[in-house]
Amino acid sequence: MKKLYKIGGILSLHDDELQALAIPERVIQVKVQIPGADGKIKTFIGWRSQHNSALGPYKGGVRYHPNVSQDEVIALSMIMTWKNSLLQLPYGGGKAGIRVDPKSLTRAELELLSRNFIDAIYKYIGSDIDIPAPDVNTDSQVMSWFIDEYIKITGKVDLGAVTGKPVELGGISVREYSTGLGLAHIAKLAADKFLDGIEGRSVIIQGFGNLGSFAAKYLSELGAKIVGISDSKGGVLNYDGIDVNKALEVKHRTGSVINYPEGKKVTNDELLVSQCDILVPAALENVIHKYNAPKIQAKLIVEGANGPLTADADEILAHRQIPVVPDILANSGGVVGSYVEWANNKMGEIIEEEEAKKLILSRMEKAFSEIYKKYNDLGDQDLRTAAMVVAVERVVKAMRARGMI
Ligand code: NAD
Repeated sequence: MKKLYKIGGILSLHDDELQALAIPERVIQVKVQIPGADGKIKTFIGWRSQHNSALGPYKGGVRYHPNVSQDEVIALSMIMTWKNSLLQLPYGGGKAGIRVDPKSLTRAELELLSRNFIDAIYKYIGSDIDIPAPDVNTDSQVMSWFIDEYIKITGKVDLGAVTGKPVELGGISVREYSTGLGLAHIAKLAADKFLDGIEGRSVIIQGFGNLGSFAAKYLSELGAKIVGISDSKGGVLNYDGIDVNKALEVKHRTGSVINYPEGKKVTNDELLVSQCDILVPAALENVIHKYNAPKIQAKLIVEGANGPLTADADEILAHRQIPVVPDILANSGGVVGSYVEWANNKMGEIIEEEEAKKLILSRMEKAFSEIYKKYNDLGDQDLRTAAMVVAVERVVKAMRARGMI
């Protein structure tokens, strides 16, 4: 919120306009119940926050997590408004969460929970209204249950009502790796501007999950040298370079990248402050904070996770003149991939993989150019501020045109 007020200052927005931007249009709270395997009814709480629809239907993921809260869902839905606007997608922002530990449920319980969640919110979603997608702990299987339930309940085969579906249900194969692919290409564009190119640059990636592993693969293909990777168990550093395919094989075989045979084992804390050209935090939020930001040795940070830097860290790194490519651009390959899927579903078309990749990357490159131009125009602000100014300004213009502010 503090950030939004800062952007409001740059864009000369008055308090009423900021208020209209900050407050979500609708937050739906639902009670989701399922009969447990032990015969007792289990009850869960969930929310869908529909933050802003000035640019189009709400769009954003659904997360299943034991700690999710209404405030978190609202904050994340606002971030989706800015991300969709920045990428010039015809969407507003939305997000949902159910407070549940999915690992404590059987597969049958998880399916019922997913279907009952759609039963609770189906009136408020649809391809022209609000389009859910995967997020933390939800995947293409959960999206399949969502769309099946939606079709059964409404009687409409509206495949664009949910994205992140398997290919057989109108999904696109690119979606699995689009976030990592997009991040690698944005890192290259940023390296061209701030580091004289990506070729031979050393890269450390925290988090070798879906995003981190694909980012590593595509960064290597672009000529960068992966020198550090990690997961929840710890990390490994090797300045001769880490073989990404071998690291994937080790992770699948042993459960963790710490068993990668060549290199030095390090903790996640050590990994983040190790020497490298480019640092990609791609695991959790708030991992770079006021205590470790002064020790960061990277020359460029590209945010993979959502919110990996605290506001204090942002300030320290800006002061140290270490550029940070913000999450709303760097990890937007997923939502741009979702847009391609949705547009295909709406048109009844099936896009080729190469064509989808091209569309995603060109959209992200355009956003990068726009941010970089704004960054230069503003002169004394960081890349995150430049990105937010571009994103918020577009939403404000749409709201003004529609008479929403
Ligand atoms: P994932 O679950 O596939 O991978 C997460 C990785 O982080 C795993 O390797 C895990 O071991 C590691 N990890 C967990 N706790 C850790 C810790 N304490 N220290 C270091 N590593 C730890 O998730 P993902 O899809 O790769 O997403 C990673 C981040 O990127 C999340 O913040 C997510 O919200 C964000 N994101 C992902 C996508 C996407 O399309 N995958 C899109 C946008 C944003």
